[in-house]
Amino acid sequence: MNIGIVGAGVGGLSSALMLKKLGHKVTIFEKQSKLISSGVGIQLSSNAIRILRLFDLEENIASVANFPLMVDCINGHNGKKITSIPLGKIAEKKFNAGFYQLHRNDLISILKNKVEDFGIKINYESPVNNLTQNSSNAKIQLLNQNYNYDFVIGADGVNSLVRKKIFPNHKPRFLKQVAFRTLIPSKKIPDIFLQDKTLLFLGNGKHAVSYPIKDKAFINFVFCINTENFYEQDWTRKVPTSELIKNFSDFIAFEGVFEKVSSLKKWGLFEYPFNKSWYKNRIILLGDACHPILPYLAQGASQAIEDSYVLCQSLKYNFDELHPTKFLKIYTNKRYLRVKKIKQASKNNAILYHLKNPLLKFVFHFSLKIVGYFPNFILQRFSWIYSGGPVTSKFKS
Ligand SMILES: Cc1cc2nc3c(=O)[nH]c(=O)nc-3n(C[C@H](O)[C@H](O)[C@H](O)COP(=O)(O)OP(=O)(O)OC[C@H]3O[C@@H](n4cnc5c(N)ncnc54)[C@H](O)[C@@H]3O)c2cc1C
Repeated sequence: MNIGIVGAGVGGLSSALMLKKLGHKVTIFEKQSKLISSGVGIQLSSNAIRILRLFDLEENIASVANFPLMVDCINGHNGKKITSIPLGKIAEKKFNAGFYQLHRNDLISILKNKVEDFGIKINYESPVNNLTQNSSNAKIQLLNQNYNYDFVIGADGVNSLVRKKIFPNHKPRFLKQVAFRTLIPSKKIPDIFLQDKTLLFLGNGKHAVSYPIKDKAFINFVFCINTENFYEQDWTRKVPTSELIKNFSDFIAFEGVFEKVSSLKKWGLFEYPFNKSWYKNRIILLGDACHPILPYLAQGASQAIEDSYVLCQSLKYNFDELHPTKFLKIYTNKRYLRVKKIKQASKNNAILYHLKNPLLKFVFHFSLKIVGYFPNFILQRFSWIYSGGPVTSKFKS
């Protein structure tokens, strides 16, 4: 097959190298320039690591990533620890792969280097601005050029142009929540943030997450808050630190931290209609372009990697020359229920993390404290995510 991919993000690069390994010809179009530095920290959980292991990428990731030993849940308002959820070696053993946190640029570089080693061409500064298709091929249109492919994959992220073209009626809904993201050099802030832990600070209608990346040289911070004010979904929008001070100065662990912020980005959180079909004829969607997921379970990148793997497996085992798009139905059917459940679980976490009612909050924090005494139980709760997926924890290579 000759396959065109729109987007050199996590899903586009993963699917490119997996398709190439199956012997297909692949070309990628990316709107950004090669040198652009975007994003902050990103998480990969064991369900994605087991897939990347099959492509000899686990070691590269482990060499640049942080390996959190646990998640400490903390009451943001009084700074007291509620409970600890074990990760590290315990989770690695249970799920047959670890959890990693790294700079998004490092993940993109690792995938990009592998893609280039495989001889795949990435066309940078090549924004796709239209797509058309007929029964035998799909066409990618750039400003002055058109390219024909057997199939086109839309891996162009949350604001996907490909999705808009094939499902024009899918309108995003603002969830009345925004996320702030920043990186702070670790030598500038209190030691609590430097531990090999993810810190989860829970508050009234808001929460914050921190973890070290880049060999602990930086701490990655994400702050989410409920708001009535509409805000765009754009990873690159900068805002003044005063917005963080206004909303999070009552989180006592952050005393003295906000003045160290040199660049703060703000991002509106949206929900999209969840379609049963992830393709139209010869144009296919994957990752955020298909099913953006709220960040409350940190599954965005991992699900894009799972999509890529299942798409390639469906092409490998289910392609039928007489019915050339049949394998796409199989791809969708294999992914639909799992992604739906993960989307719902992320939404549920959003509600729990932002509880305002004092009684409900007390019950939630108290139950977190109790399950903290049974670490295996708390890991078991999300075992279907971390042990599951297309390469389960039982898989032996
Ligand atoms: C700039 C940026 C910064 C991010 N930072 C973080 C972060 O710090 N932490 C985090 O957890 N997640 C971050 N994400 C999101 C995260 O990468 C995704 O949620 C997840 O990895 C799923 O990957 P994806 O491949 O579906 O989409 P993405 O990784 O978002 O990749 C989509 C790619 O498509 C490209 N693209 C979009 N439209 C076009 C077009 N018309 N033509 C050609 N190319 C196009 C984009 O430039 C991008 O490279 C970021 C995404 C982007 C785009």
